[in-house]
Amino acid sequence: MNRPKLFDSHCHIHEAAYPGAEAAYRRALRAGVERLICVGTDEITSAEALSFTAGRRGCLASVGLHPHEAAKGQPALRRIRRLAEGPPAKLAAIGECGLDYFYSHSPVDAQLAALRFQMELALELRLPLIFHVRQAFDDFWPVFDDYAKTVPAVRGVLHSFTDNLANLDKVLERGLFIGVNGIATFSRNSSQQAVWRHLPLDSVLLETDAPFLTPVPLRGKVNEPAFIGLVADRLAELKQITPGEIIQAATKNAKSLFLNPKNQNL
Ligand SMILES: [Zn+2]
Repeated sequence: MNRPKLFDSHCHIHEAAYPGAEAAYRRALRAGVERLICVGTDEITSAEALSFTAGRRGCLASVGLHPHEAAKGQPALRRIRRLAEGPPAKLAAIGECGLDYFYSHSPVDAQLAALRFQMELALELRLPLIFHVRQAFDDFWPVFDDYAKTVPAVRGVLHSFTDNLANLDKVLERGLFIGVNGIATFSRNSSQQAVWRHLPLDSVLLETDAPFLTPVPLRGKVNEPAFIGLVADRLAELKQITPGEIIQAATKNAKSLFLNPKNQNL
């Protein structure tokens, strides 16, 4: 039986430090991964995302400044703007951007300023956003909602969402997608499992976040896009439906979010 094609909506295999990216890309193709998004986290890895995806079919890029890197401030943000304005055909999104108060590697003011900058850039270029928000939703929603009435509307995904049902409702009310990754395969947290069970199929994206968050039973290995089927299997188990149903919905959702007339055939 043919499994529907997979779409890894979030990985970092383009980074110079990733071991064997070309081989990982080929294994992904063989595993049925039709598309993957290489997500930048600063001005250097964003440039790497654009160059890695340039010659590789099915690979698209996102450029952005991660909240951990927000202290790099305006010089990094201006460089990211220049990368995005190219305009590179492979560019599919802005991010990852957002707020992370769990680690707080950058000051809050710098995180908020970087988030606003990138939301404005995405709206200007009519691109979706990849958000990373950890223990910071109380500050995230007011910023997001400042831009919520814009036309066209803000579109995006809350990548690696592990928050509560109340914030899940707020995500869904705003028409945003939820990125599910290997955490779903190893988390024993019952309130997180409740989030994955309640997640409507039309809001699901699958992601690996490779090299991080390797799914069970491959813990200990470097994560790669070829492993994304394990995330689909686990989500299917939690939702008591088939992996095929998860994959079909998630791939359709990812295409509707990231593909546009310029990048859809690349
Ligand atoms: Zn990431």
